[in-house]
Amino acid sequence: MDGTVSSYVDDEERWRAVLRRDRQADGIFYYSVRTTGIYSRPSCVSRPARRANTVFFTDPEAAERAGYRPCRRCRPREDSALDSSVTAIARTCALIHRASETPNLDTLAEAAGFSRFHFHRVFKRLTGVTPQAYVASCRADRLRRVISEAETVTEAIYRSGFTSQGNFYAMSTQILGMTPTSFRTGADSVAISFSVAASPLGPVLVAKTEKGICSVLTGDDEPELIARLRDRFPKAHLLRADREFDERVATAVRQAEPPRPGRDLPLDIRITAMSERLRKALRDAPSELSVQTR
Ligand SMILES: [Zn+2]
Repeated sequence: MDGTVSSYVDDEERWRAVLRRDRQADGIFYYSVRTTGIYSRPSCVSRPARRANTVFFTDPEAAERAGYRPCRRCRPREDSALDSSVTAIARTCALIHRASETPNLDTLAEAAGFSRFHFHRVFKRLTGVTPQAYVASCRADRLRRVISEAETVTEAIYRSGFTSQGNFYAMSTQILGMTPTSFRTGADSVAISFSVAASPLGPVLVAKTEKGICSVLTGDDEPELIARLRDRFPKAHLLRADREFDERVATAVRQAEPPRPGRDLPLDIRITAMSERLRKALRDAPSELSVQTR
């Protein structure tokens, strides 16, 4: 890394990136050459064209719609040049999963070996979520895991990386879908209804209470998911959700579909990101109000 902070937002910057065969720009934009009809990655070893004949695109599909063919040397259609980005993002996600305290964006960008801006952009492109959303999602996951075994709710809050109780309580319903005490004690007398939908990463179970979403689980098959839901909430009244919620979940799963460029990321990372997007899609859905007030 030469420390260059480049955002590739205008064609001048993109052109300079092409001239220096900037690997960090791979996957961010593509350039095509009018005279040859071919498009390449910024790091392509082929001789740069003249600036006047160069056109920039943000993805291979756009270049092809404009009539350009992929370069045979850098194969911009394939994700191989994304490998280094995939490795870097996988590394930072592993760091997030391991960290006992919430890492900040600078620390993560540094671990990836990217500038802050570039890191944010590549992370979003590969996972579909921002690094901040990913961090928050891991913290919420951790809280849901430790809350039943911790001595107190307060201990669970700090063990999962929240810096204050207020930070947690402001979002506790969003994270747990019920009160912390209820979640801890197996959802005694709580009515929980669930739907299962197919996703590209396997079946997803979404469970809700009258307060909100209490579980998003992914696994191998439906019986396993239902068994895990029972295991988590042994005292709840579990029942299948109505068709309306089935449809809402199916729609949200489609909206949360993992981005193609990130398909080589480890499965657990893709699942974490997809679950986060799914939760967001469910929160943003217009029928959310009917869930809260029912
Ligand atoms: Zn090329």
